[in-house]
Order: sequence, then C-alpha cells, then structure tokens
Amino acid sequence: MSRTVLRYVDWRIVPDDDESTPPITFQMECVACAILYGAYDAKALSPASEDFADVQDWALRHSGRNPEHTAFREQVHRYWKTYTVGGSSC
Ligand SMILES: [Zn+2]
Repeated sequence: MSRTVLRYVDWRIVPDDDESTPPITFQMECVACAILYGAYDAKALSPASEDFADVQDWALRHSGRNPEHTAFREQVHRYWKTYTVGGSSC
C-alpha cells in the first residue's frame, strides 16, 4: 500500500532587490510598428533605459519620423522573486 503526503505552502512575491539584480528599466513599444512587424521587432521597440525620459524621447522622435504612429505601450522590466512561508502537512 502506498502513502501520499500532501503539503500546502503559501507563496509570496516581492521585488528582487538583491545587489546582483539588474536595475529597473523601461522600454516603449510603438503599437503601429508592433502590428506591422511584430511586437518584438527592433523597429517597434525603444532601447531599454533606466531613465523613463529616454524612452519618452524615443517615442517623440519615432512619431516625428512616422507621424501616423501615435500610440505607444510602456514596458517596465522589474525583477521579482518568490518564496514560501509556513506550510503544513496533512
Ligand atoms: Zn512605429
């Protein structure tokens, strides 16, 4: 006869603030270019930057070169980590 042990565990998620964790960065995605070329095409994405003003400038320059491209999606790259708390067996 086999025996099964179940363990219920609660999980938490918090920002990963370890010194080795990359900094929070921002990117801007042009919605029109994402539709034309795909969401991850280099033409649709600004370079990643820790300074949000950099990606806003990219969006403004992009609209200046492509006046019909006026919608953008912000992307924030932030690392998170999970851990278990407590737990019980039954
Ligand atoms: Zn575009």
